[in-house]
Amino acid sequence: MSYTVACDCGKSLPVAATDAGASVPCDCGRAVEVPPLHRLRAAAGEGPLSAGVQLRTMLLRGDLPGTDVCAVCGRKSDGLVRVVIHCERAVVKTGADRADQIGCLLLGLLFGWLVLLRPPREYRVLGEDVVFTVPLRVCDRCAPDLDHPNDLRDALRTVPVYTALLHKYPVARVARVG
Ligand SMILES: [Zn+2]
Ligand SMILES: [Zn+2]
Repeated sequence: MSYTVACDCGKSLPVAATDAGASVPCDCGRAVEVPPLHRLRAAAGEGPLSAGVQLRTMLLRGDLPGTDVCAVCGRKSDGLVRVVIHCERAVVKTGADRADQIGCLLLGLLFGWLVLLRPPREYRVLGEDVVFTVPLRVCDRCAPDLDHPNDLRDALRTVPVYTALLHKYPVARVARVG
C-alpha cells in the first residue's frame, strides 16, 4: 500500500508506510514531513482503528485464539503462547526509563530479593503506540521453534483478525512473552 503527501509547492509525493514519521525530499528542494502511519491511513480512507477495535472486542470476549489447532503444524492442541504486537513506535521516554533502571539496580544491590517482588512492567499506550498482547494456539512441540519474529508473524497470520492487524500495521513488531 502506498500513500501520498502534499508538498508546499503543490506536488504530491508517493510515500510508503515505512516512511511514516520521517521526511521525504521533493524535487523542489523542500523536505516534506510524513505524518504517523495512522494519519496516513486515515487520510487514505482506510479506517485506522477497525482491525484494532475488532481485536480488542474479541480479546475482551475471550474469543481468541479462536482455533484448537496449532498455528505452526496444524495439529490439534491446547497449547498457548502469548505474543505482543507492537504497532507504530512512540517517542520513548528514555530519561524516565533510565532512572527507573538505576533505581531498580540500587534496590537490587541492597535487597536483591525485593526486585523479584516488583510487578512485571505493563505495556501501555504511549503516544502513537498501539500495543496488543494476544494468545496464539501453538503446541508444545512447535513452541520452542517460534522465537524468530518472521516465524511468529507467519503463525499469527493463521488467525484472520491478527492478519488484519498486521496488514493495517505493516511495520508492527512482534515478540513472544511466554
Ligand atoms: Zn515540492
Ligand atoms: Zn505444532
